[in-house]
Amino acid sequence: MAYVVLARKYRPRDFREVRGQDHTVRALVNALDFDRLHHAYLFSGTRGVGKTTLARIFANCLNCEEKISSTPCGDCIACEGFQSGNYPDMYEVDAASRTGVDDMRKLLENVHYSPNVGRFKVYLIDEVHMLSTASFNALLKTLEEPPNHVKFIFATTDPKKVPLTVLSRCLQFHLRNIEPTVIKKQLETILTHEDIQFDEASLQLLARSAQGSMRDALSLTDQAVSHGGGSIAIDSVAEMLGTVRTDEVLEILNMLVKGDRCATLAFVNQLSRQAVSFADLLENLQRTIHELALAQITGQADTEQLQPFVGKFSAEWLQVAYQILVVGMRDLKYAPDHKIGFEMTLVRLLDFEPATSNSAEPSSLKNKHTTAVVDSRDSKKEKTELGSNDSKQASKPENVDSETIQTNLKPVQSTRTPNLGDDTQQKSQVSVDNNVDREIALKNPIVSSLIENFDAHIVDIKRS
Ligand SMILES: [Zn+2]
Repeated sequence: MAYVVLARKYRPRDFREVRGQDHTVRALVNALDFDRLHHAYLFSGTRGVGKTTLARIFANCLNCEEKISSTPCGDCIACEGFQSGNYPDMYEVDAASRTGVDDMRKLLENVHYSPNVGRFKVYLIDEVHMLSTASFNALLKTLEEPPNHVKFIFATTDPKKVPLTVLSRCLQFHLRNIEPTVIKKQLETILTHEDIQFDEASLQLLARSAQGSMRDALSLTDQAVSHGGGSIAIDSVAEMLGTVRTDEVLEILNMLVKGDRCATLAFVNQLSRQAVSFADLLENLQRTIHELALAQITGQADTEQLQPFVGKFSAEWLQVAYQILVVGMRDLKYAPDHKIGFEMTLVRLLDFEPATSNSAEPSSLKNKHTTAVVDSRDSKKEKTELGSNDSKQASKPENVDSETIQTNLKPVQSTRTPNLGDDTQQKSQVSVDNNVDREIALKNPIVSSLIENFDAHIVDIKRS
């Protein structure tokens, strides 16, 4: 037997099988069961949320030989006709390919004759917003005074383009994007029924990638099954979608904690070989940093995997990191390629090393950090000064006026709780480092560009 794609095989045949559109289904069921039928319906919503499916089920309910009800018998000639997609009184037209007024006239020329076999002639016009003005006018004439045996069902992804004169004669239902949890559950049911092996993470990724469309979810699942050689596993699904797995984001977080530049760059190379989407990865990092920032407040991460990272970064660093990622995402299109753009963003994140709030930073790391922040062009002299005469630097008057910049530059010291040795001594040491680093860092082009970006971003926010 020929293989039937999942989206077709599991297309709902009655209202009970429809998922994620409860409010529309309820309204249609009530209309059918209490005989409160309108002569024209309009279903709007994005692709693959069930517009045509609902229209066909509704038409079937209207024409079941037993009676008009929300639960057609499924056995009569009419029901069988609808199930095989072959019912003589159902007229399906795709307005995208037949927009002209002649097409419309041809479609409607027999509208006044009684149905061939059924109770109603049902006209389903898909993508109705694509009709030409002349076509809409031709349609409007019939729509104003339709014969009793005629029902119109319009489907559209863009209801705003449908003329008001048409809209006002329809009962309108907006179909929602289907929740990922609903999609995931449906995939689970279908795959179990099909006896196909799967794991939770794959379904989650597939459900999220479908972006609210059940049809897309099922097509992706079909693709994943053939990609995985008959079963579904997260590695192959992630590879197929070119998307990022959670553990890749976690791996990057780990490297940020360690500040390991070489390992990070090697990891990016590895990701590049796996054809990972760097835009997706940046977006995922943004989400993760956002989650961590919230977890910092509540003390509890949304996901178990993220819990070990709570408290590993200072609140200030998370703010800077988020901003760096936003800017990195925005500038991705200006980068020679996405890998370069991503790499530069990661390097930037590494240049602002995260503060580990539960331990004092080892002095070796501190030196490394300072060296990294200093720009190579004017660094030599200052590095010597930094090494030789700390007290001289400390006695310099503080000439940095922006509070934001101060916190952003060195979140490492500002949040660290000195918990070892003599408190007073350590505090003064911290303040010395802060002053020195601020001055040096202000001369750094990365820092100044970041500050500019902050400003531009703030102006953007104010404008919008
Ligand atoms: Zn029937």
